[in-house]
Amino acid sequence: MRVGVISDVHGNLDALEAVLAALGSVDALWCLGDVVGYGAAPNECVARLRALDAVCIVGNHDLAALGEVSLDTFNGEAAAAARWTASALAPESRAWLAARGPSTTVESALLAHGSPYDPVWEYVTNGRTAARCLTCFDGPLCLIGHTHVPSSFVQRPDGQLQAEYRVEGDVLELGEARALANPGSVGQPRDEDPRAAYLVFDSERATLTWHRTPYPVAAAQEKIIAAGLPPRLARRLAAGL
Ligand code: ZN
Repeated sequence: MRVGVISDVHGNLDALEAVLAALGSVDALWCLGDVVGYGAAPNECVARLRALDAVCIVGNHDLAALGEVSLDTFNGEAAAAARWTASALAPESRAWLAARGPSTTVESALLAHGSPYDPVWEYVTNGRTAARCLTCFDGPLCLIGHTHVPSSFVQRPDGQLQAEYRVEGDVLELGEARALANPGSVGQPRDEDPRAAYLVFDSERATLTWHRTPYPVAAAQEKIIAAGLPPRLARRLAAGL
């Protein structure tokens, strides 16, 4: 099975459409949360994933837009965007997001937005956190998002753990290893590469391949400005930060 794995769409329909076009035909689409928040097209992104029957979990920004988590830990711009998103969400978008869980297992892979230890909030950014997280699930693979940085944390059968940032074209052959893998962000990349990020999981070969695709950043920026969202949320898209 060839699976498109995406995360952190953040209401950026222009980036999502570019990724879906670049993915082409896949057997399934898995989304690791934060469908909304920051970007100006939350309903359109939800509708697109819903129509594609994507397996999707919720992230902290989805829960914030639903009013299910406090905005205390959000910075000013993120909180402003969460309030805007909450007011912009159509009832059917709200209902669809509210029906998603914080984690799920599909094809022997665990999907969690932050980490298998704390699916909503934890950032896996280093080997120490990853090592603890690898004890929190049984299968070979946990797919995570939340950091917006394409990366992998691979534990070989001898116990050795390798943490790596991932760039376009990188391939991970799982073999006997166990891993946490992050596709990066579709709608708000933060690794100084403004192109939308995603990965393809081949479940038969047990391989993960990281990809990037350009998208019309200016179109997404214009929508953010027109919506009255904080202008920095538009500017950062051009820098990939
Ligand atoms: Zn996010």
